[in-house]
Amino acid sequence: MAKFAYMNIQDVNNTIKQLMENKENKHQLKEMQPLGYTEFGLAIKHYTIGNGPKHIVVSGSYHGAEIITTIFVVRLMEEITKDINFQADQYTIDFIPIVNPEGYLITTSMQDLYLGKSTTEEEKIARAKTYWASYWADTTIPAKVKSGELSETVLLEKKSYQALFDDVNLDEFLKNDPEIKASALNIVKKNNYPIGVLAAWTTNAHGIDLSQNVPYNPAIKTLLEANGPVYNHLAYANTRKDIPGPINTPCRDLKKFSFELENLAILNFFETLSQTPGVEIIAYFNYHSVMGKMYQKPIKEDEIINLYNVDYERKIIENYISSRIFRAKNAYNIIESEDYLVI
Ligand SMILES: [Zn+2]
Repeated sequence: MAKFAYMNIQDVNNTIKQLMENKENKHQLKEMQPLGYTEFGLAIKHYTIGNGPKHIVVSGSYHGAEIITTIFVVRLMEEITKDINFQADQYTIDFIPIVNPEGYLITTSMQDLYLGKSTTEEEKIARAKTYWASYWADTTIPAKVKSGELSETVLLEKKSYQALFDDVNLDEFLKNDPEIKASALNIVKKNNYPIGVLAAWTTNAHGIDLSQNVPYNPAIKTLLEANGPVYNHLAYANTRKDIPGPINTPCRDLKKFSFELENLAILNFFETLSQTPGVEIIAYFNYHSVMGKMYQKPIKEDEIINLYNVDYERKIIENYISSRIFRAKNAYNIIESEDYLVI
């Protein structure tokens, strides 16, 4: 596996472009029509390798802040273009490197400013380690509150990883995307959040969490019944989830569910693919990450209508095994190497 290095959205696009033009590839990497566009007009890009009837879908960055999942998807694309054992006539791999481009853009724009333009690679690595260590320390706060070591008010205070961004020059933040900038900053200002929350922005620019944005999500009812501020946990404990924010908010109006455009694009893609004659969807690897470790979200919802007669129990076991293998082989190396930004 090629090295894992930090990539902002431009780096991702450039790397994929180079990969598509690489004449040494054993298999062609093709750019397809985008699956859709976000409300602020960013494309949800889609690439394929292979022409076979069996489709395997691989996606990264459902949550914008989980940038290592996108880096993994790009590296996987690289590996498969070179893989002589890949049976291109039997399989098609559908890559969606960034499901949530607005969130990815917000997070990496802040991280770019933190890492600095003219800083050395060494300094960037040092800053990334500081970020990771601060975030880690922040996740231990709730346990300390529970044991009485810290008072409950600490939960709502600015987190140490957020404080790292206090001096960031906001004029430079999302300079080329003023609408996305305005939308994200509006949420931050309205709630009086530290600007550092923008550095770990899992939601889209409207502050909606795509993996929570499903109509059968029980959290919608819970949040509605709470009838007041509901705060997040761990490193996000000073942010709310009952109104748009950096994480966990399921929809814009809790009383009236609506899908975000990113999710509609993904749903439409699966729907169209599943109805294409001869095509079989055999797996969907939907990667997520936390603290530099990647995992794969299995699907298991009792209420979900099983449109495609999927054997969910079997899928969950398969997903678990593949996710464990991936973690063992790759994700831990990211931490062990300690050389790159991990979120
Ligand atoms: Zn996630």
